[in-house]
Amino acid sequence: MPIKAPRGTYDILPPNSRNWQAMEQSLKEVAGLYGYQEIRTPIFEHTELFERGVGEGTDIVSKEMYTFFDKSGRSLTLRPEMTASCARALIEHSLHTGLLPVKWFYYGPMFRYDRPQSGRYRQFHQFGVEVFGSTSPMVDAEVLMMVVHMLQAIGLSEYRLHINSVGCPSCRESYRQALLAFIDPFSKELCPDCQQRVQQNPLRVLDCKEERCRQAIKGHPRLLDHLCSNCAEHYQRVCHTLLSHNICFEHDDQLVRGLDYYTNTAFEIHIPGIGAQSAVGGGGRYNGLVKAIEGPDLPGIGFALGMERLLLALEQQGTVNRGNGGVEVFVAVMEAQYEEEAVIILQQLRAAGISADKDYMDRKAKAQMKYADKSRAALVLFVGADEVKQGFVTVRNMIDKEQVAIPRVDLVPAITKLLHHNEEAQAQ
Ligand SMILES: [Zn+2]
Ligand SMILES: [Zn+2]
Repeated sequence: MPIKAPRGTYDILPPNSRNWQAMEQSLKEVAGLYGYQEIRTPIFEHTELFERGVGEGTDIVSKEMYTFFDKSGRSLTLRPEMTASCARALIEHSLHTGLLPVKWFYYGPMFRYDRPQSGRYRQFHQFGVEVFGSTSPMVDAEVLMMVVHMLQAIGLSEYRLHINSVGCPSCRESYRQALLAFIDPFSKELCPDCQQRVQQNPLRVLDCKEERCRQAIKGHPRLLDHLCSNCAEHYQRVCHTLLSHNICFEHDDQLVRGLDYYTNTAFEIHIPGIGAQSAVGGGGRYNGLVKAIEGPDLPGIGFALGMERLLLALEQQGTVNRGNGGVEVFVAVMEAQYEEEAVIILQQLRAAGISADKDYMDRKAKAQMKYADKSRAALVLFVGADEVKQGFVTVRNMIDKEQVAIPRVDLVPAITKLLHHNEEAQAQ
């Protein structure tokens, strides 16, 4: 049996890899516009980092981590997300004593041992940002405006931004009490998971996907009504800023994050029509996280977008740009003896920034033309006896089918001009 990629993983092949590159490029560009710089951290970290930084009660830590012992018996884990790694790097390099805020973006593979399903994989990719050092609601607003900017930049026009405030530990405690009192009379009707949640983390009952739980908790008390004055004002200023910039959002009472280090703004981006799990990304403020992993008391906020989910959404909205991925120029060799001349031409073109290729399968002249056509090169150059002896190159424009002879000495400027001309013609 030939070996296949492990379950829950997959290959990104050309030309699809062009869609990935385009999306990565757009996201990085937008992050740059907002003053974010890239951080790259190791793929694996000490297991303890995620236990503390993601939280031992979470599904990620209790069920989904790729944890292993290395040859020295250290417990290591493939990163299931990036926020904990970013916070670890911040502390390790004492960046909290430097210029604040620290504004980072990251991109790369994450690993979770989850049941593979549409758009969800065990090795998946996230693009995200983290800001450390500021509690200003203007940062929350900036992060939200940036995420909307990113969705627009990659061509996703249909999305829903859900936001809520989860308050601070003190206002959340009063809410927890109110919620427990509300749930108590019917807690036996909840699903087994929620029965557990009621004990450990009742806020998580709110985002249970089970229908019976959703029905049972209808009319539940709202976190919004329990916010302390600081948290209420923070949320108001975030919403106000979004409204004044015409950012559409929905307040969502059910959007909660159970862990104690999450504070204030929480948000999710949903795409209608990509299945039950419609979220393509989310994030929020986590003022207690850095301290939770034994760092300074430094506030933070961030979000992550799932690349696979974004691409799925783009495909469904029909806006994926499938680049042809081919080269601009194909050099066809009429007779094998002129192959070296063809290589010289190829290298000249490539040195001038023009993508170029030739045949490497010993195809006859006619088959080379077919290949050039299939690979969608814009220009085909012929190198044959007449050309080499008389010092010119025959160029066939594959778009208007015109054929011209170009003196060998003028090759690069003439090809550049032809490609430019084609681009303009196609743009019209
Ligand atoms: Zn509060
Ligand atoms: Zn439930």
